[in-house]
Amino acid sequence: MGGRDATMVLLDENGIRCDGRKIDEPRRIMIRAGGLKNADGSAYIEFGDNKILVGVFGPRDVHPKHMSNTDTGILRVRYHMEPFSVGERKNPAPSRREIEISKVIKEALEPAVMLEKFPRTAVDVFIEVLQADGGTRCAALSAASVALADAGIPMRDMVAAIASGKVADTIILDVNNEEDQAGQADMPVGYMPNLKKITLLQLDGVLTSEEYKKCVTVGVEGCKLVYEIQKQALNDKYFGKKGD
Ligand code: ADP
Repeated sequence: MGGRDATMVLLDENGIRCDGRKIDEPRRIMIRAGGLKNADGSAYIEFGDNKILVGVFGPRDVHPKHMSNTDTGILRVRYHMEPFSVGERKNPAPSRREIEISKVIKEALEPAVMLEKFPRTAVDVFIEVLQADGGTRCAALSAASVALADAGIPMRDMVAAIASGKVADTIILDVNNEEDQAGQADMPVGYMPNLKKITLLQLDGVLTSEEYKKCVTVGVEGCKLVYEIQKQALNDKYFGKKGD
């Protein structure tokens, strides 16, 4: 949020957004499972102009040993933005924002992963944002779920994620960078469709209680669309693309 541009038309008189989408239309989403030879599991996602690569390693020994847990496995997540991923070069040192997003994604994934099945070990999730355009945490979380499944990590469900929000007093699905900057609210939602559980819910901006409920509903419905693409990515890798 912030950096509001008063001249930008976020929603025109025909209900069309600044990038040509309708209010309930997500950006183009492409997910590929696998691809990294040295990782146990991996995934690549293009979510509009976001481009993100995820590598999963483990379950593997924890060093230092005292970080391990004898009762359960641990999940470690590192979200990292490449210096060239945004218009103005980003400092390569981990920022407060990257540390926060790593924590948020870890906590959103934990309910999905059966950590109790591999005590004393760790599963590491490395997220590399190659190009960022608003909504990277949701795109990264969706790709990380596919990469974990690709690694064969036992899971209760996959987490699908997308942001809903508010621009020009209207609730929209899938907030892009301009809408995030100049809009009224941004609500990243992570949801496990099979278990019907929300594992990520953040809100930047102000909503009435009615708008809040609508935003959650729109976000959850959006997650169901993302989920289909996640499942398709795994199907394509393990059962072959349609027509192969
Ligand atoms: P998210 O990417 O999950 O929406 P934010 O709301 O914090 O997370 O960021 C919104 C967008 O702002 C990012 O997707 C990215 O395009 C842009 N952005 C984030 N950090 C920087 C930065 N250091 N420099 C320039 N743009 C940035």
